Order: sequence, then C-alpha cells, then structure tokens
Amino acid sequence: MKVTYLGHSGFLLETDTVYLLFDYYTGALPEISADKPLVVFVSHSHADHYNREIFQWKLRYPDIQYVLAHDIPVKRMMEEHKARGIDLDPCLIQVRKRETRELRLCNGSALIVYALRSTDAGVAYLLEYEGHVFYHAGDLNLWYWEGESKQYNENMTRAYLKEMETLKGRKIDIAFIPLDPRLQEHAMDGLRIFMEYTKTEAVFPMHMWNDYSLIDTCLKRFPEYKKHLRSVSHEGQVFVL
Ligand SMILES: [Zn+2]
Repeated sequence: MKVTYLGHSGFLLETDTVYLLFDYYTGALPEISADKPLVVFVSHSHADHYNREIFQWKLRYPDIQYVLAHDIPVKRMMEEHKARGIDLDPCLIQVRKRETRELRLCNGSALIVYALRSTDAGVAYLLEYEGHVFYHAGDLNLWYWEGESKQYNENMTRAYLKEMETLKGRKIDIAFIPLDPRLQEHAMDGLRIFMEYTKTEAVFPMHMWNDYSLIDTCLKRFPEYKKHLRSVSHEGQVFVL
C-alpha cells in the first residue's frame, strides 16, 4: 500500500485495487491511474478540509465516487455542476454520524463506510475494504484548549472518549489522526487515546499547520510509537507500507 501526504489533513491512500483520497484542499494531486476506482472523502465543510475543485476530477476520472459528510451543502453545488456537464448525482453520497453505508465500486469490490461523530464538524471515517481497515479522523479530536472553561474541556473529553469506545479493540491498518500544535501540551492527547483504544499498525499525524516538530516530541515521549507513527515532513511525501 502507498500513502501520499498532500498537505494538512489531505492524504491519498492507494492499495492494489483502489485509491482513497481524504480531505483534499490544496497541493498537487499525484498521478492517478484510471484503471483503479477513486473514492474521494470529505469529513466536513471547513475550508481546510474541503475544496470544490474535487468535483472537476469527474471529467478526468469518470468512475470517481464521492463520500461527503452531512454538513456539506451540496444541492446548489450539484445543480451548478450539472449545468456545466458534470453530473454528480450517480456518484455522490452523504453520510450522517453513526451511519454505515456500503459502496459498490466499479471493480466489483465493496467498501464499507462507517461515520463516527466528530467533536468538531461533520464526521470521521472508518472504512473496511478487502480485509483492510482504514480510519481518517477529519476533525474528530480531543480539542482540549487551555483557554476554554473546565466545563468545555470536560464535555470535550467525554465526547471524544465516547467515539473512541466505538473503536475499542479494533485492528486498524492505517489511521490518520490530528496532531495539532495549537493545543500545546494537550496536542498529543487525542492521538495517545486513539492508540490506547485501538490496535493500529500505521498512524499518520495530520492537521499540523505545516509544523512537523511535534512528531519528534511525540516519539520521545512515547517511544513505543516508533514502529507505528510515520514521520510526515513535507507535502508530496510518499510512504510505502
Ligand atoms: Zn480542521
């Protein structure tokens, strides 16, 4: 399997038989071969996770499919695209929190999509595909802000743990998890708890606002992550797993 870091929370994951693309909003798209299906996921509507440019790709990849969170307004956008000859109706679904959907891809395989509830906007995605399990958190994180009230941070912690409960003991091949330096000493909490709850093989930190220094700090504090945590350092970086 191959993972390309596109920037911020954007990743392209490639297996032998599919491309899964998450939260693209900027950067160069790597070469994508038209003979494997491409599924594009958007976790929520925020501008650092969603760029309407993704719908132009339908012209290049006619079999493309889109999975969008429920908070993204699509009606008008779809009408505008239809008027310009891009019919998104047959290839776009929206998912709500706690919803499970099964997508049938053009290669005949099934992709199971389970949407977790984000602690920010939209959803996180847990995917099952040909025996593999993948997870992209979107903005589902433990947003523990020093400046917030005790009540806020307690509610936040509770909400995050509730979602992690749904993943308890799960084997996950590849996960993408926020490691946001703005959270300062709490920046690693969400990732640490995720690693405690799940059995994750490879974890890619994201949502780092181009500051990758926290990865080293994290590895020093949790040396046991050495074989799991991938050192993301620049856009366009490719990892072969
Ligand atoms: Zn975000």
